Amino acid sequence: MNSVSFKPVVALVGRANVGKSTLFNRITRSRAALVADFSGLTRDRHYGEGRVGKHPFIAVDTGGFEPVAKDGILLEMARQTQQAIAESDVVIFLVDARAGVNAHDHEIARLLRKTGQRVFLAVNKAEGMRYDAAISEFHELGLGQPYAISASHGDGVVELIETALSFLDEAGEPEEPEADAPAAPQEAPAAEPPVQHRIKLAIVGRPNVGKSTLINTLLGEERVIAFDMPGTTRDAIEIDFERGGTRYTLIDTAGLRRRGKVFETIEKFSVIKTLQAIEACNVVLLMLDAQSEISDQDAHIAGFVLETGRALVVAINKWDGIDADQRERILREYERKLRFLAFAKMHTVSALNGQGVNALIKSVNAAHAAAFAKLSTPKLTRVLQAAVEQQPPPRKGIFRPKMRYAHQGGQNPPLVVIHGNALDAVPDAYKRYLEARFRAAFKLDGTPLRIEFKSSH
Ligand code: GDP
Ligand code: GDP
Repeated sequence: MNSVSFKPVVALVGRANVGKSTLFNRITRSRAALVADFSGLTRDRHYGEGRVGKHPFIAVDTGGFEPVAKDGILLEMARQTQQAIAESDVVIFLVDARAGVNAHDHEIARLLRKTGQRVFLAVNKAEGMRYDAAISEFHELGLGQPYAISASHGDGVVELIETALSFLDEAGEPEEPEADAPAAPQEAPAAEPPVQHRIKLAIVGRPNVGKSTLINTLLGEERVIAFDMPGTTRDAIEIDFERGGTRYTLIDTAGLRRRGKVFETIEKFSVIKTLQAIEACNVVLLMLDAQSEISDQDAHIAGFVLETGRALVVAINKWDGIDADQRERILREYERKLRFLAFAKMHTVSALNGQGVNALIKSVNAAHAAAFAKLSTPKLTRVLQAAVEQQPPPRKGIFRPKMRYAHQGGQNPPLVVIHGNALDAVPDAYKRYLEARFRAAFKLDGTPLRIEFKSSH
């Protein structure tokens, strides 16, 4: 069995306004593009798939760092930031070349030195400045050689990321097996899918939503084939099992351990492990707790699932323990806060007594099938032509976009590539219209669908 490696995590740290979110947007898929693709997705995004340099990675924007916080929200933020720093592989500490060093920078530097993490000091907003002038005063932070960058212009950003990640390889960490092909880890070169496709499943959600309970309900009655302990911190913990003739590999998010016949989680909840498991799986099972509110953290994790393009099934758990009013409340909240997950099947379940679990797993299988569906060029092209005939794309100036044919460019998520002319002019709303037509024609429930345009002139 081949084991799954987690992608390294790069955390961006620094006081407010130094340019963390600008850098985050540059090194991940741009926020604007993502929000356009999924209406309703929050703009406030903290986790992203790395998109620059040779190595795949996950970026975390820690949002802010208040080392002097004593209580309340600021303390909770500081706690989360510190956990993100502790669990990431590399920290990029941003400072502002134009504002110079201040006391707050010194305080963050002191805390970072104490963590023993590998820190790269990025002197941002350095565009148009002389390199040595930009970095000179930042040596005093005692974090080694400063790197001058411009997050908004892009200067020095790729070099910084590549340098930061190259240290991981030198330190004897395992090479990423997908290092040369970060864009399409799941694409099988063969025309036919493997007969026994093992479903790589990640069960994710906040602490106490019922993940371990569900895992025990699932595994209690099934044959556990293998339980791999990780060789290094970047290897995933995997459990292979079979259910109803289908084989699954469960990719664990938070230190699952086996005690006798029972599995239990002994480590504390980790956002970073959650992100890594999402990256490493084919299908995500996102668990929510019917007895509490849907939080920003739930929405952030859901946003990351969308960005990676993984197939998704949602379970609202603890359905046994609530009355009709509470049921109505949580369903309304789900509609309001997570409406960008409309492509995913949602189930109300009880992990404790097993109610709804069979239907849930059926949706996992269906989402996996949709994510790996074969979309034939003739049928794609027929669906495209019928859609265009019924409602042509709007004219832009003298240009009328012309769509000739479509073919499949990838799986998990399915990618539909549309060829034609003047396709830059196609508005997002029209793209969503086409997406709905492809979804209906190919029954693509449970997976994001991506559409790309290729104009010949
Ligand atoms: P954050 O609070 O650390 O996330 O900082 P932001 O990314 O929101 O940036 C704060 C301000 O600095 C914004 O007005 C950005 O446009 C600006 N900024 C970010 N990066 C650069 C840069 O490389 N050069 C310049 N001149 N301004 C930048
Ligand atoms: P995890 O932190 O996500 O792994 O959550 P656990 O599986 O440890 O569950 C947290 C708590 O919720 C435990 O006390 C469980 O017994 C309880 N719980 C889990 N699933 C259910 C459920 O379906 N119904 C009810 N009423 N309680 C549940």
